Amino acid sequence: MCAAEAKPVVTRFAPSPTGYLHIGGGRTALFNWLYARGRGGKFLLRIEDTDRERSTPEATEAILQGLRWLGLDWDGEAVSQFEQKDRHAEVAHQMLARGTAYKCFSTQEDIATFRAAQEAAGASYAVFQSPWRDADPASYPDLPYVIRMKAPRDGETVIDDQVQGRVVIQNATLDDMIVLRSDGTPTYMLAVVVDDHDMGVTHVIRGDDHLNNAARQQMVYDAMGWDIPVWAHIPLIHGPDGKKLSKRHGATAVGDYQVQGYPAAGMRNYLTRLGWAHGNDEFFTSQQAMEWFDLGGIGRSPARLDFKKLENLCGQHIAAAEDAALLHEIEAFLAAAHMELLTDAQRDLLSRAMYCVKDRAKTFLELIEKARFALVSRPVSADAAAEAALDTVSRGILKTLTPRLQTVSWTKEELEPILTEIAAAHGIGFGKLAAPLRAALAGRTATPSVYDMMLVIGRDETISRLKDAAG
Ligand code: GLU
Repeated sequence: MCAAEAKPVVTRFAPSPTGYLHIGGGRTALFNWLYARGRGGKFLLRIEDTDRERSTPEATEAILQGLRWLGLDWDGEAVSQFEQKDRHAEVAHQMLARGTAYKCFSTQEDIATFRAAQEAAGASYAVFQSPWRDADPASYPDLPYVIRMKAPRDGETVIDDQVQGRVVIQNATLDDMIVLRSDGTPTYMLAVVVDDHDMGVTHVIRGDDHLNNAARQQMVYDAMGWDIPVWAHIPLIHGPDGKKLSKRHGATAVGDYQVQGYPAAGMRNYLTRLGWAHGNDEFFTSQQAMEWFDLGGIGRSPARLDFKKLENLCGQHIAAAEDAALLHEIEAFLAAAHMELLTDAQRDLLSRAMYCVKDRAKTFLELIEKARFALVSRPVSADAAAEAALDTVSRGILKTLTPRLQTVSWTKEELEPILTEIAAAHGIGFGKLAAPLRAALAGRTATPSVYDMMLVIGRDETISRLKDAAG
C-alpha cells in the first residue's frame, strides 16, 4: 500500500454562497459525504465567499439548510475562504521565496500590446509572457505588482482523474496565472489550493466544470511541493431531454424538493444513483450507499434527471420508514412548506393512520392527502366526485347502516359481515357501498380502505360522519 492510500480520507464541499443549493451541488456534497463517511474519514465544508459582492449570508444559510435537510453532516465548523486571505497572501510570498512565482509589474496596456503583437504575428492564441519572469530583482521599479506563478512553458500537465481518466493539458496553453493581485488579495485559483492543502483534503470530488482549473491548481501544488489530492471530476446533471439542467426542466434547488414533500432519504437515494451505479441496485439505504460508494462507479457521461424514478424511490422510502420517524419528518415538512401544523389530536390520529397511508405515497403531500380522513374535522367537506357518490339512494343505505354500528365490536372481523350484509340487502356489490362510505368518511373517492378509516377514527366519529352525510 502506498503512503497516499494510507492517509485518512478527507473530502470537502466548497460552495460559493451566491444563491441557493443547486441539485447538482447537493449531489456533489452527497458524493463527498458518502466517500468520506464510508471510509471513516472526514467531510468538511468550506464556504467560498471571496466574491464579496455576490456572496451573502442568506445564501450561505440556504446552502447549510439544504445540506442539513439532505442529512449531510459535516465535521467541525464551516471554513470561510475569505477569512483565510492573509494565509493565501503568505503562500504567494512563499512561492516567491521558492522561486516558483515572481513579481510582475506589467500594466494592462503592456498586456494588450503583447497580445496585439502576437495576433499580428499570426499566433492562434496569445498567452501572455511577462518580461518580468526572469528579471533581476535589482531592476524592479517602485510600482504596484501582481504575483504570478512561474508556470512550465513546455511539456504537459497530466490530471490523473478517477472519473475522466488521464487528462493531458499542454503547458504552452496555460499562462503564468496571477496568484496575488496588486491589492494583495488572492485569486480564486490560489485560494482553493491553499485551503484544500491546509484542510488536509485528500480527495477533490467536484463538477467537471472545474476540470480545466485542476491543471492550473496542480501547478500550485507543485510550486509549493505539496501532495496533489486525488481528483474526481463528475459530469454535470442534465434535464430529462439531455440538455443542460435549467429551471425549465423543473425544480433545480434542493429546497424546492423539500417543500414539494420529497423525503430526504428518497432524495439521497436518487441523487446517489444519479451518475453513479452499483450493479442494478436502485433502492438502497444511506448505510448501504456509504458501504458501496466508490469513485469507480461514477459514469463519464452526464446523468439525466428522471422525475419518475425520483418519485418511485421516494415512495419506497416513505413505505419503508418507521412510523415515528415519518411523523417527525412530515411535521418538519409542514413547517418548511409553511403549511398548517398538526394539532395534538391530529398528530395522534395521523400516527394511528400511518400504517394505511404510507404505502404508495410518493411525497408527503400525497401522504397527507391520503390521510385526509384522519386530519379533517366534521362536517367533512366533499369534492365533486365524492358528492356525486352521495346520491339519495346511497344516503338511504347509510341510514340503515348506522344503527348496526352502535353495538358491534370495533374490529375488521366484526364490521365486514355487517357491511357485506347491508350491500346484499340492497342488491349492490361491496364497491357500490364503499363509494358513499369513502365520501362520508373522507370527502374523497380515493382513500385507504373503508375498514382502515373506520378503525382509525373510531366508532363515534364514524357514526357521526355517516349521519352527517346521510342528512
Ligand atoms: N466554489 C466552487 C463552486 O461552487 C467549487 C470549487 C471546488 O470545488 O473546487 O463551483
